[in-house]
Amino acid sequence: MLKEFEFIEKIFQKKPSSIFLGIGDDAALFHKNKKEFWVISQDTLNINTHFLSNTDPENLGWKSLAVNISDILSMGGNPKYALLSISVPSANQEWIKKFSTGLFKCAKNYGVELIGGDTTRGSLSISICILGEALQNNVLLRSNAKLNDDIWVTGELGLAALGLKYKKRKFFAPKPLIEKAIKALEKPLPIKVNMKKLAALCNSSIDLSDGLIPDLNHILNKSALGANIFIESLPMPKWIRKNKNYPLVLSGGDDYQLLLTAPKNNHKKIIKFAADNKIKISCIGSMTKTKNIAIIKSDGEPLHYKEKGYDHFA
Ligand code: ADP
Ligand code: MG
Repeated sequence: MLKEFEFIEKIFQKKPSSIFLGIGDDAALFHKNKKEFWVISQDTLNINTHFLSNTDPENLGWKSLAVNISDILSMGGNPKYALLSISVPSANQEWIKKFSTGLFKCAKNYGVELIGGDTTRGSLSISICILGEALQNNVLLRSNAKLNDDIWVTGELGLAALGLKYKKRKFFAPKPLIEKAIKALEKPLPIKVNMKKLAALCNSSIDLSDGLIPDLNHILNKSALGANIFIESLPMPKWIRKNKNYPLVLSGGDDYQLLLTAPKNNHKKIIKFAADNKIKISCIGSMTKTKNIAIIKSDGEPLHYKEKGYDHFA
């Protein structure tokens, strides 16, 4: 049985046409004008796979768009337009109203306009195609990480995975943390910045949808490099750190934060950008030659870690 990424590579990836970048990154790129690319991507949320049936419809509307915005940001782009394709089992007006309220709140927050889509009957599934703009000079490809780049992540990791574990009744943690975790799972908050400006300081990026290690691995494979990651530097809730619940942070999915790599020379500028824009950003390690990921504990010893992130066909 093929794994998800092998499946895409073997079956869908054909030699490119005239566009600048096709399958294989968070989004495809084609020329808009001399200076800019259009950035285009599509993500689907299916009931019981991407969300549980008891998910609040307003949050689901928000999340459906937020996960798509995240892919545009990870290319160094700003999101602009979206097309919504939704399949619903029945014409439940109350549900659809709440769903659209969440979707439009997210759209307004990130400056996205809904410009089309499709509505059908079937089991609940939401697919959004999103279009954004990026500067050609600053576009952030998975293949462009450089040796010795700092590795950065935005926000906090592991919360969404904790929320999901709790909702599946597999996990218990302090109540305020669980509330925060469920919020992170159901209403992810990709950073809200002028991404073209942050992209100017970085070399490469991916959004964290499958988990830190599997997503970082995509950058490693495409850039033919390795990485050192320091557990101590990973942004995570205190309770997760205290309990050393590292799998939530290393391979828990659904964070929709950005992983970025950037020249060490830009370290201070990135910290200033984050402060000016009121976003949290942490330097978690650096790019190395070794072509694998070394996860390093606070005592300097490596953490032996085998767990993989989410694979739809595993
Ligand atoms: P992400 O997690 O960033 O949304 P995916 O893992 O879903 O990215 O997809 C990886 C790459 O494969 C992307 O470039 C995406 O456009 C492409 N891809 C995924 N599924 C298909 C498909 N059915 N047909 C064509 N391209 C696909
Ligand atoms: Mg992505």
